[in-house]
Amino acid sequence: MTGTAALIVAAGRGTRLGSETPKQYLPLAGRTVLRHTLDAFLGHPGIDRIAIVIHPDDIAAHAAATAGVTDPRLLPPVIGAATRAGSVRAGLEALAGTPPDRVLIHDAARPFVSARLITATLDALATHAGALPALPVVDALWREFDGTAGAPVARDGLWRAQTPQGFRFAPILAAHRAGTDPDAADDAALARAAGLAVALVPGEERNFKITSPGDLARARRHLEAQMDIRTGTGFDVHAFGPGTAVTLCGITIPHSHGLIGHSDADVALHAVTDAIFGALAEGDIGQWFPPSDPTWKGAASEIFLEKAVERTAARGFRITHIDCTLVCEHPKIGPHAAAMRAELARIARIDLDRVSVKATTSERLGFTGRGEGIAALATATLVGGTA
Ligand code: MG
Repeated sequence: MTGTAALIVAAGRGTRLGSETPKQYLPLAGRTVLRHTLDAFLGHPGIDRIAIVIHPDDIAAHAAATAGVTDPRLLPPVIGAATRAGSVRAGLEALAGTPPDRVLIHDAARPFVSARLITATLDALATHAGALPALPVVDALWREFDGTAGAPVARDGLWRAQTPQGFRFAPILAAHRAGTDPDAADDAALARAAGLAVALVPGEERNFKITSPGDLARARRHLEAQMDIRTGTGFDVHAFGPGTAVTLCGITIPHSHGLIGHSDADVALHAVTDAIFGALAEGDIGQWFPPSDPTWKGAASEIFLEKAVERTAARGFRITHIDCTLVCEHPKIGPHAAAMRAELARIARIDLDRVSVKATTSERLGFTGRGEGIAALATATLVGGTA
């Protein structure tokens, strides 16, 4: 196994918020803090596997927080240990059976990690064994003396560490197994103690850690201020031609005709892709994949939708709903609708219950009614400010 894994560390008790519930399981705008964090990684196309490390008392809370996630990249939870380092070690060991090339280790209580920061952290691993997102200290620093301001501390060259901290997998696993520095503050400190070079990556103020009740209020304000809900529409038509099957939402359906098109003529995926580009106000499928370019001749339309999904993450949005309606007399869509819906959810990287695929005839009227082709309409709803 190669690729990139994300380890979300959610094993802490986090009782500083004065709640019986650990902070990662507290609700935040309809989802738990942990689910916000998980969705940030699920929304990044560069992440191949995600493991969440949990406390043994939180099996039910974890199951509730991840209910409805059908993305196969999410692995079963890993039971953590009494210390953070022990929990990270348990997570790394769970991945070690089929080791990834790279791993991102992230605090569950930082739900606002952006796709940009995930990408920047991974990019730094091209030249360094580790990568540490951090922000420079801008406030003056003082050492207290007996309850008074004792003496200023030079802040030059001081940085505030964040996560995700990124590492090449083999050396960070080795560092954890060696336990070089049992008092290491975080994984970057452990990596440094093991002699690994760790790059500093510019962190983000929005990527703060929820620790105090004030942080939870700040998180709610952040979500309210950033909430940007958009709906896009898409429409596409392809004509019937010679052939023995049509491809709709990536599913091959035997038919007396095929659909004519430059790509695989998947009219449904084209409409959905255009709906997402519409919500992003980033043109349409024809601008991203010009029909004049022979590269896309006969292409599986999955790559078009994947591009729209990639742009959604890059712009800091997530897809919260897709609705696609096919208009045709034949073939009958009903028997294939469930498979089409599942395939659409897989490609769009969203939960099944956020995807709708349905069909109608046009009562034998018009070009669809005469059986000359298939039309597809789609809407996509995107929510920004949480990625
Ligand atoms: Mg088309």
